[in-house]
Order: sequence, then structure tokens, then C-alpha cells
Amino acid sequence: NASRLLNKTVLITGASSGIGAATAVLFAKGGSNIILLARRAEALAKVQAECTAAHQASGLKEGGKFISIPFDVSDRKQVDSLLDKVPSDLRDVDILVNNAGFVLGVEHVGDIAQDDVEAMFKTNVFGLVHLTQLLVKEFKAKNKGHVINLGSIAGREAYAGGSIYTATKHAVRAFTGSLLRELVNTQVRVTEIDPGMVETEFSVVRYRGDEGAAKNVYKGLQPLVGEDIAEEIVWAAARPPHVNIAEVLVFPVNQA
Ligand code: NDP
Repeated sequence: NASRLLNKTVLITGASSGIGAATAVLFAKGGSNIILLARRAEALAKVQAECTAAHQASGLKEGGKFISIPFDVSDRKQVDSLLDKVPSDLRDVDILVNNAGFVLGVEHVGDIAQDDVEAMFKTNVFGLVHLTQLLVKEFKAKNKGHVINLGSIAGREAYAGGSIYTATKHAVRAFTGSLLRELVNTQVRVTEIDPGMVETEFSVVRYRGDEGAAKNVYKGLQPLVGEDIAEEIVWAAARPPHVNIAEVLVFPVNQA
């Protein structure tokens, strides 16, 4: 029910592109308020403008408060001081969407640069964990809130060339499962969304900006798009308060 999104405040990491950007626009359409976070300020500003347009087009009176904050989730100091940068009318967060994440390279495990290993863990795992810790304290105290984590099929399987990324996403899955159980009997909900192939900037980052190689990944496939995953996220958030969607696994029809 869309009315359950009205006036909710949603904090989304990785809101500057792909799944995160599509999710922001869909929450905006549903009358939510949004804190948009990512490193690229210009890209964030564009997504914020799309949110404003989507909210205006919806004709809803509720919601429509948006703020973009340039933010690196892998930087612990920035996570610690994040709430100081959020205006007071948006500080009471209802939904945390831990979406920022990436894979860099397809190298054999012996050839992966140590810096790349650390960068993936710092964003995909430490950033997600740390931000969750920051907000879940408030969620518990207020006995409300929803943590929605982006996992992946890579958190359920292992494959050659994916050693570090799969390790980070397995960590996300383990963390999310424990969190869900720790919060049982509270009104705080925990959801993991695990996509298969989604065509976003994800592959471009993976192939270090080589657009051709990135496109090649989807050859012969009809990948999902960011909006497909955004619909799952927003659907989980809009369930009645007693319903917790624990996990969602979403594939394109021609991926198994
Ligand atoms: P995109 O590359 O399009 O989006 C990733 C987002 O994360 C960007 O907004 C990027 O913004 C942000 N980000 C990356 N690093 C940081 C950081 N250190 N601090 C803050 N923000 C950061 O990819 P997707 O939309 O596809 O990916 C979103 C999530 O979905 C990821 O967790 C990914 O692992 C997961 N996923 C994706 C799949 C796919 O096939 N695409 C499949 C399964 C899961 P900026 O660069 O501006 O900081």
C-alpha cells in the first residue's frame, strides 16, 4: 500500500546511479522524504532533481523533502558525523537502504591489488555495518525502522574471478541474517535484496571504465534495470508494519 510510504524518511547510500537512484525516485513518487548519499555531488544533484519532479508529478502533498550529501561510506569519520549534516526535519530516519557497493576487477585472487581488496571490504562491508550500527541504535530506542541491505546472488554463490566481491556479499548476508534475529520481537524490520544481473554502472566500475567490456557482460541476456530492483525495495518497505520481508532473490528470466 503506497500510503505507507507517505512522509517516511529514507536514507539511501549509493543514490547517485543505478539501483540507488531508481529507488530514490520511486520513494519520492510515493511521498517519502529522502537523504541521498554518494560521493559524486553532481550526479546526486541530478537524481535529487528527478526526485523533485517525480514528487511534483505525483500530486501528493506529503513528503517531498530531499537533501543530497556528498558522502563516502567507506570513511568511518564521515559515517560518525553524518547525522550532524542532516537537517533536523530529516533526522528521524525510518528506512535505511544500504545500497552503495561495487566490484573492481576480475583478476585471479593472486593478482588482485591489496588496495582493491581493502576498498571493496571498506565500502561493501565496513561502511554498511558501520552505518547500520549508527542508525539501528535509534531504531531500537524508538522501536521502529527498517534496514534494507543490498546483497547479491554473489552472497549465495562463489565463482572464479569474484573472490573478493563474493566474500563481501557473503559477509553482508551473514550480517543481515544476524541483525534480523537480534531484532525479532521489535518493530524494527530487516530485509535483504539479492539481485542477479542488473545493467547499471556496476559493470563499468568492474571493468575500470572500459565501456565495451562492461557491455559485453550482458550479451545474449536481458538484464534487469535499476527500476526492477527499486520496485522490490519499495514494495518491501510498503508492507504492513507486522510483515517483514526477510529476503528477496531477483533474476532476469534468462539467468539461473
Ligand atoms: P552502480 O555502480 O550504478 O551504483 C553504485 C552506487 O554506489 C553509486 O551511486 C556509487 O556512487 C555508490 N558508491 C560506491 N562506492 C561508494 C562509497 N565509498 N561511498 C558512497 N557511495 C558509494 O551499481 P548498482 O546500482 O548496480 O549497485 C548497487 C548495489 O547493488 C551494490 O551494492 C551492488 O553490489 C548491488 N548489486 C548489483 C548488481 C548488478 O548486477 N548491477 C547485482 C547484485 C547486486 P558514487 O560513485 O557517486 O559514490
